[in-house]
Amino acid sequence: MSATFGKIVFLILPVGWYIIRMPYARRSRRTAIVRTARGFREMLLLSISFTGVILLPFLYVATDFPRFAAYPAHPVPTSIGVLVAIAALIMFHRTHKALGRNWSVSLDVRENHRLVTEGVYRHLRHPMYTAFWLWAAAQALLLPNWIAGLSGLFGFGTLYFLRIGKEEQLMLDTFGDEYRVYMARTRRIIPWIY
Ligand code: SAH
Repeated sequence: MSATFGKIVFLILPVGWYIIRMPYARRSRRTAIVRTARGFREMLLLSISFTGVILLPFLYVATDFPRFAAYPAHPVPTSIGVLVAIAALIMFHRTHKALGRNWSVSLDVRENHRLVTEGVYRHLRHPMYTAFWLWAAAQALLLPNWIAGLSGLFGFGTLYFLRIGKEEQLMLDTFGDEYRVYMARTRRIIPWIY
């Protein structure tokens, strides 16, 4: 399997993600924000993540930049990458379906915000971040380039580790004991492990 095949498969991630997210983004935009943890830090983290999971891989898919970091494609990682990309999209679909209009690209609490604890949120508190980790892993497996392949793990990893504490604090401030109880019986992103 060639590098071109990996590039084409990689493109289904942003396209699929956009299609899945579109109706929910529209719905949540219409719901007022009553509390937010947005700010310069959040914008910076979102930009770093966007650069890693979209900008750099797109540049590579379109122009092969940066060529010095290229290595030969191999069918084994490419095939695993296809499966991981499909898993990421399934996870995105399930998280959006469960979160509905409570979804935000940043850290917001919306009018009549409900704590979602069912569906894919039954065992995991952050399944949408699981989906993004799967995206970043698929990117590393599908793009045979040390920079464009690994930038997703670095970019999203930065957002994840610097945001997760703030997000859980926002949920605790909003839902109090309800979230404390929910935290006690769930994991963050990997069932039974973490
Ligand atoms: N961290 C979650 C959601 C990401 S979207 C996940 O990975 O699945 C970010 C928004 O979701 C934040 O604005 C936050 O207010 C909201 N949120 C996070 N967990 C939630 C939950 N269990 N129920 C409802 N809203 C939640």
